[in-house]
Amino acid sequence: EFGEDEGDDSDLSVRPPVVTVMGHVDHGKTRLLDALRSANVGDKEAGGITQHIGAYQVTTDVDGTDRRITFIDTPGHEAFTSMRARGAQATDIAILVVAADDGVMPQTVEALNHAKAAGVPIVVAVNKIDKESADPTKVRGQLSEYGLVPEEYGGDAMFVDVSAKSELNLDKLLEAVVLTADASLDLRANSEQDAQGLVIEAHLDRGRGPVATVLVQRGTLRVGDSIVAGPAYGRVRAMLDEHGENITEADPSRPAMVLGLTATPGAGQTFLVVDDDRMARQIAEKREARERAAMQAKRRVRRTLEDFMASMEKGASQDLNLILKGDVSGSVEALEDALAGLDVGDEVSLRIIDRGVGAITETNVDLAAASDAIIIGFNVRPQGKASEMADKEGVEIRYYSVIYQAIEEIEAALKGLLKPVYEESVLGQAQIRAIFRSSKHGNIAGCMVTSGLIRRNAKVRVIRDGNVIADNLDLASLKREKDDASEVREGFECGLVLKNFQDIKEDDVVESFEMREIPRS
Ligand code: GDP
Repeated sequence: EFGEDEGDDSDLSVRPPVVTVMGHVDHGKTRLLDALRSANVGDKEAGGITQHIGAYQVTTDVDGTDRRITFIDTPGHEAFTSMRARGAQATDIAILVVAADDGVMPQTVEALNHAKAAGVPIVVAVNKIDKESADPTKVRGQLSEYGLVPEEYGGDAMFVDVSAKSELNLDKLLEAVVLTADASLDLRANSEQDAQGLVIEAHLDRGRGPVATVLVQRGTLRVGDSIVAGPAYGRVRAMLDEHGENITEADPSRPAMVLGLTATPGAGQTFLVVDDDRMARQIAEKREARERAAMQAKRRVRRTLEDFMASMEKGASQDLNLILKGDVSGSVEALEDALAGLDVGDEVSLRIIDRGVGAITETNVDLAAASDAIIIGFNVRPQGKASEMADKEGVEIRYYSVIYQAIEEIEAALKGLLKPVYEESVLGQAQIRAIFRSSKHGNIAGCMVTSGLIRRNAKVRVIRDGNVIADNLDLASLKREKDDASEVREGFECGLVLKNFQDIKEDDVVESFEMREIPRS
């Protein structure tokens, strides 16, 4: 449904670059996005109400020509990576913000790596140069070491010293973006065809219903068009721009807030214009069915994992086996009836493997030991060597003389047997950069931790091209430089060896995760 014929070259016209702002926390991404937006809105229409719609366009003069630039207004690389994970590439250029007083930090490197991996050119905004402690030269030196060499040092990356706070050099930054786009990208799109693009964000508005900000990537989106956006569909009832003004059409690279969808699509999902409402509904339903199937598959994997983890728990038998012994047959029957009435759900089961009248014998203990059972003695005691044998074998014998007390305790024991519920928590991811073959250790994967952390004792899975190709693996070793590490955090390189899995390749992603027990209510 995507990737329709773009027509021949003559149908293509230049479209504005789409920019994402990335960088370490507190280096000024949000402030820079705000400054760029307000500076532009300010000189365009005084008194206009700006809307946060997830993306906005600015216009800047480059060599006497008005040039437009689209900014995705969600700072940080989470948005960037989550969209890329869905196979969507919204960004043409990344602005890497580095605070001049702080220099290159772990998330700076991470952002840099994300942009590089996506093949997106980078413009560096050396921010906070209003500060006395600012050292923009140091930033240039640091980034050069990561292969991002400033033009003034003979490289091909544009560095601009800015202050988001004092709104200094913002025009120079915009110019650098335009020049970088012109030099290294061929940003053209056909504005004549039916629109296609990406959902940037969506929410449910109390008055207006589902509202989605979309970025048009090809064609022109118009009010009245029938569209499918992720699993949602509808007819575009109205469109608003970032100034809150109604617009009737949106051309390539133009962000627009769309009203009229049946549901809220997810960020990074694609949208496209189709012939009519009926077709929109059909496609949307197909997409929804596909999403549901994917969700179910995910849940299945998760359940299998849970079962596996639970079975690894020592003695996690789900059966409570009992041997009942009583002084008279009436008491044994009463006990049996009461136990049969216990409601313990269907996760655990209670099995009475033997019953009888009289003292607890060595035969009873033997059977209990063999079947991991507990012996319940009602008004009876062990005979001969039965007690000694039970101690030796680790067989539990419980004595009662009151029925309800016996029932209460057995019920508690059953609850204690309830399988723990586990929830997966992802600790982080590392990207494999190189494989070193070692005759002693097998394949050692050199990697960069791109988010969170990798923990030596946690489980890992291997992701290749977005698919999990191996799950629930253990690490045989984790090293930083030459030393064993218990954890390696985001922004650092490490070497790891997987236990029982040698098929690791460059560009694979290793995800570290833990199964956490959730307390039962
Ligand atoms: P983010 O985490 O990268 O989005 O960073 P913010 O935009 O929230 O900025 C972090 C802090 O740095 C805030 O207190 C900003 O006001 C401050 N800040 C951002 N840009 C500048 C700047 O150019 N100069 C100075 N002095 N402070 C800045």
